[in-house]
Amino acid sequence: MRYFSLNDRSHTSSFENAVVKGLAPDKGLYFPEKVVKLPASFIKDLQNLDKTEIAFRAIKEYVGSEIPDSDLIDIINETLDFDFPVVNITDDIGSLELFHGPTLAFKDVGARFMAGSLGYFIKKGNLGKITVLVATSGDTGGAVANGFLGVEGIDVVILYPKGKVSDIQEKQLTTLEQNITAIEVDGVFDDCQRMVKRAFLDTDITEKRKLTSANSINVARWLPQMFYYFLACKQLQEKDKKLVFSVPSGNFGNICAGMLAREMGLPIDHFVAANNSNDTVTNYLETSEYRSKPSVPTISNAMDVGDPSNFVRVLELFDNKYSSLKDALSGYSFDDSQTKKAIKEVYSKTGYIMDPHGAVGYLGVQEYLKGKEGYYGTFLETAHPVKFLDTVEEVIGKKVAISNSIKHLMDKEKKSLQISSYEDLKGYLLS
Ligand SMILES: *Cc1c(COP(=O)(O)O)cnc(C)c1O
Repeated sequence: MRYFSLNDRSHTSSFENAVVKGLAPDKGLYFPEKVVKLPASFIKDLQNLDKTEIAFRAIKEYVGSEIPDSDLIDIINETLDFDFPVVNITDDIGSLELFHGPTLAFKDVGARFMAGSLGYFIKKGNLGKITVLVATSGDTGGAVANGFLGVEGIDVVILYPKGKVSDIQEKQLTTLEQNITAIEVDGVFDDCQRMVKRAFLDTDITEKRKLTSANSINVARWLPQMFYYFLACKQLQEKDKKLVFSVPSGNFGNICAGMLAREMGLPIDHFVAANNSNDTVTNYLETSEYRSKPSVPTISNAMDVGDPSNFVRVLELFDNKYSSLKDALSGYSFDDSQTKKAIKEVYSKTGYIMDPHGAVGYLGVQEYLKGKEGYYGTFLETAHPVKFLDTVEEVIGKKVAISNSIKHLMDKEKKSLQISSYEDLKGYLLS
């Protein structure tokens, strides 16, 4: 499979180059030259196939022959080494739990697959050592650190804003050591992001170190997210209802992978983009005019994005036709008080504890299903509620049980470098 740049269709790339570079030279996102159509017989048979086989069939053509089948299967097995259950919340709404991985959020899937792919290309070729440089507002850092831990030939440097990530998130970033370095920036997420972008353009650094990013613009992080839509449909097949997925969205990588899976043949009737107060896409779907805005902070902070970078991929999937997109996608936006109310209500009615991101997804599917019959709606529970302990415990008025692995993590010693300027970062990268 070749990938083209969404800024310039005549620029194409191999899978390997797209993974190593992240972005095209013109800063465009890479997009596969064709959407793979899977045979109806395969889709019908999902129930009888195992995880590995399903994921292999789904991604195989996007990787092509650049990773041999046996290595690709190893990467998939490592990526999907946990469960993806759909849990019934009401008769017609379920929660697709994506938090059973090592860092308790769905980003584990993309991060692990990318680490496996990049690790393979390094082992095989003459790429030399690569530094993965990322800024995180919380979940990305932990997932990337965990996914790349111990992968040979790769150093990971993660910038996070001091005092702005949750305790669990911070421990997930700062306690791993080996090839992972956590840098605590005296500033906010945007400062971290700005430093990372500047480093990528700084030839003093790029002459000495090969840098790559690991956010969801990378095809090796974006594409494998389709796996859990296949695994969900496998579980939902027997319901014999029209299927709707509601995805708590920030940068729109996750939902875009789901919409790709639908184009590939999954029997999904409709998608809901569930947004918090960062409502750029909700507004776009209402007005057909795209207007980015500065992000505003919310309790579902992994979705605090005012100009979602993957939305151009969603548009591309529908040939940039607003009317076709509208048939497949609805968007709703909910503020923090609605989110808290949903967490509280679902907990008191069913005993199920949602995290703030999942709760926005729940609200989205509930809204879409109003007055409709014959549907089953699934919202993606993108993180474990324990990652947002303060909010969740305050809302439900009860302590949330903490697993032993989290207790163990919290006992580990934090190790980070403290920096306050770009020069500090540069000094570190050149040392
Ligand atoms: C990253 C993240 C999101 C947003 O996902 P996108 O792919 O950026 O839309 C939602 N929920 C949680 C918990 C996340 O970590």
